[in-house]
Amino acid sequence: MHELPVTESILNICVKHAEANNAKKIVAIELKVGEMSDLEDEWMQKYFDYLAKDSIAEGAKLKIERTPVVVQCNLCAHTFNVDIKKREKLLCPECEGTCTLISGKEYHIKNMEVV
Ligand SMILES: [Zn+2]
Repeated sequence: MHELPVTESILNICVKHAEANNAKKIVAIELKVGEMSDLEDEWMQKYFDYLAKDSIAEGAKLKIERTPVVVQCNLCAHTFNVDIKKREKLLCPECEGTCTLISGKEYHIKNMEVV
């Protein structure tokens, strides 16, 4: 249920930003969420609808884009994208070394539509 605090912080940032720009209403928010993050689109929208009620963000649509998982080899420092649904073990294609996650769990606000 960690969508709730995440969604709340996204909402707070967006409302602050919209108010600073004298926007009347937030129509949509574009988010980038790492493919490996376990934030569910559906839950984020549900929490958002609940939290945004009676604010200028009420009814705003979350447009969630998934960003690829990127890892780096511990041996040769080669970085590459990983399809987490296909690969079982994270091994470097160059030297078969083990890898460390660089990105894929983060989330950030990409854009916001206001009126
Ligand atoms: Zn390697």
